[in-house]
Formats: sequence, structure tokens, C-alpha cells
Amino acid sequence: MTDEPPLVVGIDIGGTKVLAVEAGPDGQVLRTAHAGTPGRLVEPSLVEDALTAALQDVAGGRPVAAVGLAAAGFVDASGERVRFAPHLPWRDDPVRARLAERWGTTVALDNDANCVARAEASYGAARGAGSALVVTLGTGIGGAIVLDGVVLRGHNGMAGEFGHMQVVPDGQPCECGRRGCWEQYCSGNELVRIARRELGRMPTILDELCGGDPERLTGPMVSQAAEQGDLLARRAFGSVGDWLGVGLANLVAALDPEVVVVGGGVSAAGDRLLDPARAALTRSLVGSGHRAVPPLLRAHLGPEAGAVGAADLARALLASG
Ligand SMILES: [Zn+2]
Repeated sequence: MTDEPPLVVGIDIGGTKVLAVEAGPDGQVLRTAHAGTPGRLVEPSLVEDALTAALQDVAGGRPVAAVGLAAAGFVDASGERVRFAPHLPWRDDPVRARLAERWGTTVALDNDANCVARAEASYGAARGAGSALVVTLGTGIGGAIVLDGVVLRGHNGMAGEFGHMQVVPDGQPCECGRRGCWEQYCSGNELVRIARRELGRMPTILDELCGGDPERLTGPMVSQAAEQGDLLARRAFGSVGDWLGVGLANLVAALDPEVVVVGGGVSAAGDRLLDPARAALTRSLVGSGHRAVPPLLRAHLGPEAGAVGAADLARALLASG
């Protein structure tokens, strides 16, 4: 027997990286571990090896009481299967049970944006709000709707997949197989695409940051350049922010939430992203002169929100027996 509190781990798997955190009972991050995501064109077992490595890293040999997995994909309403994940290899796959068996512990599974929303509603920017719209900007767009502190799952468990709302008929092809999805115009990927497209057309420190090779350009490089006042990088954020506000105006028209919370890696840019989004939201929202336009808040829990929310879900599952 031991007096150690049970070790609860949350793991967030996105299109490019795996983040594992040890989370305390009040959502505190006690320890973190990182790994790369092998990609969507590999065997699922390779992705699960990366998850296992991150779990072992964060556990450091201690017994694990429960693991929550936040996956960038469609998770069914019962939290058993990943139905489809544009950036990962799982296809209608019983991921929860397989990982529970592999790890010999309680495992909870949910969509990554649902986990971010759970964390922000419990400990972050949406705490105490009667209703909140949560949007995460990373490789793509994730989203969730929170009503009275509860994440709306939808009939199939697929509510809140805002990133694949078609905003441009016959627009840019999307990894989901369709065209013109919102995340093709408003995401970390689009930030990089805009910068690549404009390289060589105007002076920019991005030339230097990517060593003259546009293929080596990354989202964090665009963020760094924007922070240093680079005009091209700032224009890229202006465009993504504008598309963010336009899409949010449609969602706010549909849901009329009390607050809107923006998280995900791209949200680290703060007001550089949110100011153009606020302007576009106010400009595009129906009746905006005659209603309270919801505040557009940056997520409080930062890049760890998904993992913290997943750990919270696992802890709740553990408590419910
Ligand atoms: Zn799509």
C-alpha cells in the first residue's frame, strides 16, 4: 500500500504531436512529456507506440490509475471508438478498449476539442459561463459547445466539428476529402501556406528563419516573425484572424453563447490573432448593433488544455467506478 495519490495522466494527440501530462485533482499540470505523431499514413500501432512512450515518460515507473486520451478526430458518443481522424490513421477503431488492455489501466477517450472545452469550463476561461463556444486552432480547427458546464456531444458524438463546415463552395481541398472547409482558411496549416505563397514577393525575415527553404517553414516561425514586426507574418495572422471572426459570427448566430474561447497552438499569438477576429466577428454577426457580442477570450490553460481535460475525464471515470 502507498499513500501516494492516484496518478492520473491526460494525453493529447494532434496531427503533429503528442503531449502527456500528469494532472492534479484541480487540473494542475504536475509533469509533462512530449513525443512526435508518426502521421496518418502509418499503422495505428505506431501511433499507439508514441502514446505509450509519452505515458511511460510522464509516469516514470509509477503505477497509473487512469489515462484520458484527447484525440484529434471523431469519437463516438460512448467514447469507445475513433470513427475518423483526418490527421491520424484510426478508422472506426475501438481505440479505448485496445489501449486499456495494452496499458492495463482505466482509459477514457474523447475528441480533443471536447477535452479542451471540459478543461476551460472547469478551470479556465469559460468557468462559470452558462454557455460557451470553444474553438481550437492548431493543425486544423476543433470545436465544442458547452451548455451549463456540460460538453454537448451530439447524437453521434460528433457535435462541434466546426472546422469542416464548408465556407467556400469548391474551395481548397481538405484532408477530410471534401473542399472549402473552414480550417483550410483558418488554421496553423493555412498560416504556413500563406507565408509560403508570399515568400519572395516581399522582404521578410521568414527567408532567414527557414534557411531559404519554404518547405522548412513552420507555424511557430510565422509566430516568431510576427512578434518581431514582420509584415508578411502579420498579414498571415490578419488573414487567419479575419477568417476566424467570420466563421465565429456564423456559430454565434446559431448558438448565441455567453463567451467564445479560442485555444490551440495558434492562439498563443494572442491579440495578433484575436483582434482581427473580434473586428470580423462584430462586422459579420447578424444584429451586432442590437445585442451583446460575446467576448472573444484566449483559452487560459494554453497548449496543455486538451491533456488536462482528458485527465479530468479519466478522473471522473475512475470516480464513477
Ligand atoms: Zn474538411
